[in-house]
Amino acid sequence: ASTWANVPQGPPDVCITEAFKADKFPQKINLGVGAYRDDQGKPYVLPSVLKAESAVIAALMNKEYAGITGVPEFTKAAAILAYGADSSALDRLAITQSISGTGALRIGGAFLARFFPGAKTIYIPQPSWANHAAVFKDAGLTVEKYAYYNKDTIGLDFEGMLADINAAPNGSAFLFHACAHNPTGVDPTPDQWRQIEAAVKAKGHFSFFDMAYQGFASGDIHQDAFAVRHFVAQGHNVALAQSFAKNMGLYGERIGAFSLVCADKAEQKRVDSQVKIIVRPLYSNPPIHGARIASLILNTPALYEEWLLEVKEMADRIITMRAALKANLEKLGSKHDWSHITSQIGMFAYTGLTPEQMDQLAKEHSVYATRDGRISVAGITSENVGRLAEAIFKVKG
Ligand code: PMP
Repeated sequence: ASTWANVPQGPPDVCITEAFKADKFPQKINLGVGAYRDDQGKPYVLPSVLKAESAVIAALMNKEYAGITGVPEFTKAAAILAYGADSSALDRLAITQSISGTGALRIGGAFLARFFPGAKTIYIPQPSWANHAAVFKDAGLTVEKYAYYNKDTIGLDFEGMLADINAAPNGSAFLFHACAHNPTGVDPTPDQWRQIEAAVKAKGHFSFFDMAYQGFASGDIHQDAFAVRHFVAQGHNVALAQSFAKNMGLYGERIGAFSLVCADKAEQKRVDSQVKIIVRPLYSNPPIHGARIASLILNTPALYEEWLLEVKEMADRIITMRAALKANLEKLGSKHDWSHITSQIGMFAYTGLTPEQMDQLAKEHSVYATRDGRISVAGITSENVGRLAEAIFKVKG
């Protein structure tokens, strides 16, 4: 028999793109993609990225390995972007470049699995990005859920969230989406974050932030970093996963960072040594091209200013499309309250549509998105928003 004769068939990766491709209707709409599209529905390479990339290529740099923790000019700038230039965390931060946000989460998961002094369990929101549970389980952690989303209000289940934070054993590890929660688009307000922080502190919990959308949510990199910076200011030595996939549009370049705020320099040195011991047998050292692009943008004032405007432009287009979808639904005479479409933030909106209604959207209207009712607002354009609203109106009323 073949060596692999007993390998069982795994479940398919749920792929909307396949069904979308197979559909022959010319006005079909793909709202499944987790990537930004411009108002023509096309993938978007940021002009600041094109400039930085041209400069990187023109510099004719060699292709030798980065160190285990990556390109230092990149990680230094990434830390400033996340924590703020005046953060007390910066000179006691263990940070490593990572294979985008996913790789950062994986390194963090592995670090917790090895060294977290409490139970090797991480609490993630219900629901969360589908890959969170898989990443943390494969890293050796047990995954538990905390209440997050209230399907009746299509908003935050704030009481449930606080109750679960309080019910977890003292000193547990909690994962928070720093901004633009995926898949719901529902974020705590700053005041709710303050209350969450107080609850987390009272219980002695550890906070791990996943920040995959800094700048992409509100259009302002500082506003989107509020939760992380607030926790650090209140004395939490957080873990942080950063991704430059969305806010720089560097998706396939796989560029991100993982960091741990340490108590002091001596602790940072020890933690840093162990992060290296985790990374080395995984992939030795990270790729350099995306790091050079991101580093040039973050470290060149003119490019940095240009990039900030481009991030805002992307966020603004998404916010505009939310408003347009809501307005179109109301114009059609929908009696439902669609205010969640505009109160939610980031790339995704939770429509509140049922799996059956989502199937109907696909079959009868060639509108494709996940069955949980999540739509990628990035897939909406001025051109298709009218037809999309009609389709949703026909399915839900
Ligand atoms: N966290 C969240 C919440 C995400 O939505 C994503 C991307 N969809 C990621 C992490 C990681 O993405 P990447 O590995 O491409 O940076």
